[in-house]
Amino acid sequence: MVVKVPTVKLTSGYVMPVVGLGTYARKADPGQFRQGVEWGIELGYRHIDTAAIYKNEEEVGQGISNKIKEGVVTRGELFITTKLWCDRHAEADVLPTLKESLNRLQLDYVDLYLIHWPVSINKNGEDAEVDYLETWKGMESLVKMGLAKSIGVSNFNEEQLGRLLAVANIKPAVNQIEINPTFTQHALVDFCKSHSVVPVAYTPLGLISEARPEFIGKDVIKTDPKLGELAEKYGKTRAQIALRYLVQRGIPVVPKSFTKSRIAENLDIFNFELTDKEMAIVDGYNLDHRCVPGTAWAKLKYFPF
Ligand code: NDP
Repeated sequence: MVVKVPTVKLTSGYVMPVVGLGTYARKADPGQFRQGVEWGIELGYRHIDTAAIYKNEEEVGQGISNKIKEGVVTRGELFITTKLWCDRHAEADVLPTLKESLNRLQLDYVDLYLIHWPVSINKNGEDAEVDYLETWKGMESLVKMGLAKSIGVSNFNEEQLGRLLAVANIKPAVNQIEINPTFTQHALVDFCKSHSVVPVAYTPLGLISEARPEFIGKDVIKTDPKLGELAEKYGKTRAQIALRYLVQRGIPVVPKSFTKSRIAENLDIFNFELTDKEMAIVDGYNLDHRCVPGTAWAKLKYFPF
């Protein structure tokens, strides 16, 4: 069954499907990236999320290209996101870096290009202290050249996003940040929405997929009977309830899976609706726990957390 996914309109005027396929994996065979993307497109994903630092743009691009060649999808139906890594923040580096990504992805343009983190580093991983406002000028020029339809940021905090919004000629269309039932991020989500910046949830499954040692015993979301009851009521899994909760908050999600059944499962969240009371139950799992704390960068000038 091919699922038709609702879309959200961005300030750029383009629309983005509210479920995208995440593609980050610490360890994977190259073939898994291509295969995951191909399964995703076959099942109805039209939004795919990658990044230069994931080192998988070639395989992701191959999967996209195969499905276009097979006539399963057209380029125009797809929404492809990639991201600028922190060692390419100088304004002059932005265009050549996107061109490298486009080359690997076999694309003429991306639908969304993101500054992956507000921090900048040099080749040795040390703080380069390049102001993301400078980087943004490079990002804006990509839109004028037609190489990125929309541009945005990722991992920006409220203060950083506000500082960017104050001077940007082209407003960031999205802020891709960690949001899940154990990290609900209400303040930053509200701030984004109040400025028409779409908050996109990365690691949307949070502790459902990844219990950290320090949280063992606290990852109630995996075991809590109330969530089990909710899942049973709707004939869904705990993961589907988590994704539905986010989408119902008006937050697009990019869950990653390379398991065909779970790729399908994560898209199958549009035939039920949680009540306000049920939304509050899921919201109550918040632990303010980041799965992606970025602590190695804590001393960098533009560290966001
Ligand atoms: P997710 O919350 O998407 O969880 C992924 C993990 O959950 C995988 O191990 C996957 O395993 C498993 N999983 C997937 N679906 C289900 C399911 N239905 N039930 C149970 N387990 C499931 O975490 P990610 O950190 O991967 O985040 C998603 C995407 O967000 C990334 O892939 C990337 O594209 C983006 N991202 C962006 C960041 C940024 O800084 N902008 C930072 C982190 C992520 P399996 O594959 O075996 O199914």
